[in-house]
Formats: sequence, structure tokens, C-alpha cells
Amino acid sequence: MIRLLLLAGTREGRDLAEGLRDDPAIHVIASLAGATRAPRPMGVATRSGGFGGRQGFADYLAAENIDAVLDATHPFAARMSQRTFEVCTALKVPLMQVLRPAWVPGPHDRWTQIDSEEEAAAHIPRGARVFVATGRQTLERFGAMAGRRMIVRVIDTPDGRFPFADGRFLHGNPPFSVDDEMALFRALRIDWLVVKNAGGAASRSKLDAARLLGVPVAMIRRPAQPLGRTVETVAAALDWARTLA
Ligand code: NAP
Repeated sequence: MIRLLLLAGTREGRDLAEGLRDDPAIHVIASLAGATRAPRPMGVATRSGGFGGRQGFADYLAAENIDAVLDATHPFAARMSQRTFEVCTALKVPLMQVLRPAWVPGPHDRWTQIDSEEEAAAHIPRGARVFVATGRQTLERFGAMAGRRMIVRVIDTPDGRFPFADGRFLHGNPPFSVDDEMALFRALRIDWLVVKNAGGAASRSKLDAARLLGVPVAMIRRPAQPLGRTVETVAAALDWARTLA
């Protein structure tokens, strides 16, 4: 039996856990960063919290006798993916990254592609009502967005103060349908969306809703990814794991 570390925190991570949990040849240990307060159980052994940096991660792989690593972290969790690639390469631990394709704009999408949250203010005018779908962890990067009303959707309502002068947190548990997103953007009279190019079908609905309503989107491009092996789908990642086993 091989011991497989599954770096999770995404829909793919959950689907992979489900696909592998009954495989008698693979013992899966899922790992979550611990960002979500009450994650739904994945049905496999699960650890939570950072490893304590590069050395901590290398020590963990050795101490737990990990035979292979499946990196199903989010496309914007670039530090984790890069470090995993470097450590696994150095220790000769087989690694596969699951990376869903990025979204590409269609003819009726009104996207402005930007490289970071910091750039949003250069495109979104003062007075705009902005729907922020980039998560709570990088809100400090929107420092230049003063004068806009910021509606920030979050899964867990943060304990701290709302970080902008105008706006509020909006609690929401994905997935959201296109109809729900349209109704929400209409009700809030949203003028702009800010979105990370996460890719994937489940969270595309906000973009479909924006297109149908003619709402412009500031689309944050993905960070650079490591140069290791990747697959685009859960099915291909399952094949890889089963072939290894
Ligand atoms: P990051 O910047 O690449 O990583 C920051 C630190 O979080 C890492 O150095 C590591 O800490 C820890 N970490 C990240 N993923 C981990 C995992 N699966 N298991 C254990 N520790 C992990 O990542 P991030 O953007 O903060 O994302 C954190 C987690 O949230 C990821 O698992 C990611 O899949 C999930 N997520 C992120 C986004 C996003 O937009 N960034 C969206 C949805 C879900 P140590 O150095 O201490 O090991």
C-alpha cells in the first residue's frame, strides 16, 4: 500500500479524496491549510494547518513515509505549489499537480485582465459598487479602492472589522447558480466584479451572470505555476495515483 499526501482545500481535493478513499492500494492523508473554520469531512485521514515552512514540509514527508504527493491546492496557492515542487524534486518523491484550466473570455464578456488586486483601482472608478469575490485573505491589497462601495463575499464571516470605509461582508456558501448570482448582483446594484482566474465550472456562474447583465469584470491573472507535471482533471489525477499504486 502506498501512502499518498493529498494537498487539498479545493473542490478537486475533495473529489480526489472521495475517488481514492476506498482504494485498498492507497492510504490517503489529506492536508488542509486550516483557513476554513469548519470544513466538511472528506472521508479520509485529514491533517490541518501549515507544515511550518519548507523544512517542516520536508520533515513531514519523511516522518510520515509519504510515497507520493498529489497537489490539489488552488491555482492561487502558488507558494505552496512551488515549494511542494521544489521539496518533492529534491527528495525524489513523485508529485502530480491538478490544475484546472483558466477561464478565457467569450465574445460578450467584459473583462479587464489585471495582475493583482492592487491594479483594480486603476480601472474601477470611484463611486462604483464593487462585488469582491477574491476571498478575505488578500483584502489588504485593495488599499487603493477608497471611494468605492466594496461588497466582499466570504465563506466564513471574519471576526475582525470590515477593512474598507464603505461596504460590508456578505456571507455565502458556494456553489451559486447563475440565476442566484444575477439576482444578487441586481439587488446590490453591482457595477463591477473583481475575480481571481480560478477556473473550474462550479465558480464560473458569477462570470456568466456578469456577462448576461453586462457587468464588467476585473479578472486577476493566475500567478506563475511550478514547472512540474500537471493534469487538468480529477480523473487524470486518479489514473496517476492508481498507476503509481
Ligand atoms: P499559499 O499562499 O500558497 O500558502 C501559504 C501557506 O499555507 C503555506 O506556506 C503553507 O504553510 C500553508 N498551506 C497552504 N496549503 C496547504 C495545505 N493544503 N495543507 C497544509 N498547509 C497548507 O496558499 P493560500 O493561497 O494561503 O491558500 C491556502 C489554502 O487555501 C490552500 O490549501 C488552497 O488550496 C486553499 N484555497 C486558496 C484559495 C486562494 O485564492 N488562494 C482559494 C480557495 C482555496 P506552511 O509553510 O506552514 O506549510
